[in-house]
Amino acid sequence: MVLADLGKRINGAVNSALSNTQDDYVAAVDVMLKSIVTALLESDVNIRLVSSLRNSIRNTLLENKNRSMGSMQTKKLVQKTVFDELCSLVDCEAQPFQPKKKKQNVIMFVGLQGSGKTTSCTKLAVYYSKRGFKVGLVCADTFRAGAFDQLKQNAIKARIPFYGSYTDTNPVKVAADGVSKFKKEKFDIIIVDTSGRHRQEEELFQEMVEISQVVKPNQTIMVLDASIGQAAEQQSKAFKDSSDFGAIILTKMDGHAKGGGAISAVAATNTPIIFIGTGEHVHDFEKFSPKSFISKLLGIGDMESLLEQYRTVSNKEDHEATLENLQKGKFTLLDFQKQMQTIMKMGPLSNIANMIPGMGQMMNQISEEETSTKMKRMIFVLDSMTKKELESDGRIFTEQPSRLVRVARGSGATVFDVEMILMQQQMMARMAQTSRAAQQGGGMPGMSG
Ligand code: GDP
Repeated sequence: MVLADLGKRINGAVNSALSNTQDDYVAAVDVMLKSIVTALLESDVNIRLVSSLRNSIRNTLLENKNRSMGSMQTKKLVQKTVFDELCSLVDCEAQPFQPKKKKQNVIMFVGLQGSGKTTSCTKLAVYYSKRGFKVGLVCADTFRAGAFDQLKQNAIKARIPFYGSYTDTNPVKVAADGVSKFKKEKFDIIIVDTSGRHRQEEELFQEMVEISQVVKPNQTIMVLDASIGQAAEQQSKAFKDSSDFGAIILTKMDGHAKGGGAISAVAATNTPIIFIGTGEHVHDFEKFSPKSFISKLLGIGDMESLLEQYRTVSNKEDHEATLENLQKGKFTLLDFQKQMQTIMKMGPLSNIANMIPGMGQMMNQISEEETSTKMKRMIFVLDSMTKKELESDGRIFTEQPSRLVRVARGSGATVFDVEMILMQQQMMARMAQTSRAAQQGGGMPGMSG
């Protein structure tokens, strides 16, 4: 993944500058900046932005010239300056629109064909519907044959009401009809998917303006394919001139996406990125936050997104039941089973690993398939246990070793596999007990509150 490469290279430059024991601070800073600049340019960040970023990092570091390059404080300063400067590039002051419940919010999507518009419409619909909004999808793309079918299939799969027409070829009318139907039915959010073209052309922009005039969107979102790299800037400017979108969704940030293009696009249009698409599945959709994005870019993990994703896919009652158990210092096999099921729902493990500090690199060494097979086997083992066993602390198997053999046989695993699961669950249970004891006793030894 290009993003991880960029992070690795920037970290490498910082580390090698810090291990540089030579006295010439300015020379060491310049060598480091040269490596960072090369890494950013190769990741497709716009040359003007890189140059201003370089100057600003250089100035901060030179203001602190009196500190020696080897000190821990300097290391933190270098990392923080690089982090803050990159954050300020993607963090624009404009606040994205927040839909309100019981108000009819119309959101219109624009973007070129193939950018991931239809896919992202459904992802956004699912995102809001999971948060209690009543959401409808309107397909106003009458240009591309099959566009309505695609939206319809996605919507049916995601259980989102939809509107479109096989016979009407006037996109403005279809958009108006769809919005008016959902408004009458008191929908909170109405998402309108418009047509794209292979290229930016006059008719496309004209059509967008006309649709916008009739549906009067509260928010227009431009969908941008991150893999187009440098072209992102020019493309977003062209769309901004005609549709004045208020937010960006950046798709295909998985695979070979060049994160630099995103940075350029935001800086060029002063428009916030609100979500990023990280795969074809409906859940491969992350809320964009500048700090999380840059953390990932620099390979320092992103626990914020991980928790957000966890909250989205986990069942609220299960989650609360586990929390309650943990507060009592307990962690049963049933808690373990639910955690595993939630993790499996969170999408490809490599996506999850990339959000955990240090895990992304580790995952590169183990095959995705191998890990996923292991996790599925664990779920089969847990599924083969009885309710009583699941609700227990696992010691029940020490008293009845024959059950251990039965569970292994029933799930197609080995006795060793079952023992490993029990060992892991008991480790978690011990952690729950320790943290409970710490809470009651006023903290763990050696750790502040
Ligand atoms: P549209 O023409 O703009 O409506 O684009 P589509 O929604 O039809 O998407 C074009 C292709 O990109 C489809 O094959 C999607 O599955 C794929 N796609 C969309 N978003 C993402 C993403 O975030 N990651 C990946 N890998 N593929 C995506």
